[in-house]
Amino acid sequence: MEKNLTLDPQNWDALRSLGHRMLDEMFDQFIHLKEKPAWQQMPPEVQKQLHEPLPIQPQGEEQVWREFVNNVLPYPNGSWHPRFWGWVQGTGVPFAMLADMLASGLNAHMAGFNHAPAVVELQVIAWLAELMGLPSGSSGLLCSGGTMAGVLGLAVARNAQAGFDVRENGLHSREQPRLMVYGSTETHGWAKKALELLGLGRRNYRAIPVDSQYQIQIPLLQESIAADRKLGHRPICIIGTAGTVNTAAIDNLNGLADVCEREKIWFHIDGAFGALARISDKLRSRVAGLERCDSISIDLHKWMYLPFEVACLLVRDAELHKAAFSSSASYLAEFDRGVSVGRMTFADRGIELTRGFKALKVWMCLKAYGVEKFARLIEQNVDQANYLADRVQCEPELELLAPVSLNIVCFRFAPSVMPEEKRNALNRELLMRLQESGVAIPSSTQIGDKFAIRTAIVNHRSRIEDFDLLIDTILKIGRELITEGFKA
Ligand SMILES: *Cc1c(COP(=O)(O)O)cnc(C)c1O
Repeated sequence: MEKNLTLDPQNWDALRSLGHRMLDEMFDQFIHLKEKPAWQQMPPEVQKQLHEPLPIQPQGEEQVWREFVNNVLPYPNGSWHPRFWGWVQGTGVPFAMLADMLASGLNAHMAGFNHAPAVVELQVIAWLAELMGLPSGSSGLLCSGGTMAGVLGLAVARNAQAGFDVRENGLHSREQPRLMVYGSTETHGWAKKALELLGLGRRNYRAIPVDSQYQIQIPLLQESIAADRKLGHRPICIIGTAGTVNTAAIDNLNGLADVCEREKIWFHIDGAFGALARISDKLRSRVAGLERCDSISIDLHKWMYLPFEVACLLVRDAELHKAAFSSSASYLAEFDRGVSVGRMTFADRGIELTRGFKALKVWMCLKAYGVEKFARLIEQNVDQANYLADRVQCEPELELLAPVSLNIVCFRFAPSVMPEEKRNALNRELLMRLQESGVAIPSSTQIGDKFAIRTAIVNHRSRIEDFDLLIDTILKIGRELITEGFKA
């Protein structure tokens, strides 16, 4: 038996040199991204090679790195590429990649206590609260994504608004009223998942219709609330969206805040990407009223471009936030001195105990580049969306399918020779061919009953000519399909 086993390297110099080569490789990738396809199909051989028996015996760091370079590195989904605009996926930031490396090396445990990494996370939360216009003293927590931030926010809302002790009693009692949550038909799918998980139940979610701007119809919301109250139900939360996933529509947030105030209902804002528009002086008015929320979820891995994953829940009332999650356990006791000074700050604000140091990349990037830079980048993306929409409207064969409220452009190839009933299938085929070409990666959505090519721009690497190339390539593929005599 070997003694003194460890996972530290036998030869530090060898790992050091490998580490430098890893960094060089990643930087070379960044520098040459534009020349590479936005996406490429993983060949079947590679897929086969990635299925292998459990490695009982060591293969060595060098070998594993080579395999990463050959079999993994060339075939990601493409979100780091200048012409990736699929779904709403940020680009990543090289300096944040380095920050993630530091965080991983430091291996700080982020349940709480008063160490420097904890102070950094608290600082990041305070900065984000300030950017969103929430008062100092607001609470918050970094988490994995908008979904998790929403689940946590809705849990705080549920416990604060239920009118009984949900943590103690659960939702079993038949005497308690049904707890109702409201959003729009455009609210992101996290909301239904959260209702299921929190025991609220999907049938207690009211999806209020939207208007032609894809904003929630507030009069219908009010009718729905009134009808529910009449039935003895208890409205607990309205979810407003700043930047819907389909079209980046922004609900009338002041209107919703007024309803919440009048009705004494919790106001949660899903600000996954759209909330970040608030940091731009030019765009702030579009999310007016955002600062009146009780809680808000923001995805920093979307419109702050940071590498996955990092999002933030902010809660105006710190006591209510803590009341939803705090717990005590003898093994987590607080001491006057030593390491255990300070509370389980973060564990008391969510459901995770062990957490990583996601805050470091946020802290380092905000400091290194400054809020101003992020504001300019967000404005740049909005300008690009407007440019793209203009180009779509100038091309007789293209049709814009939804108003451009921020950074998402939904359109389709709709030449007059192609009858309406074939256009969905045509655009579906066109999108698949476009993606397979590797030129650009938009995704799709359904606008009414129309299949839309959806371009969501949360990309700091895109340039105007990238959008020209997108239009040119779509027209080229579309015309080819017509020439081929495309049949649905
Ligand atoms: C992306 C998105 C979410 C979900 O966020 P994840 O980080 O993917 O969990 C929720 N709401 C909106 C509006 C989004 O765009």
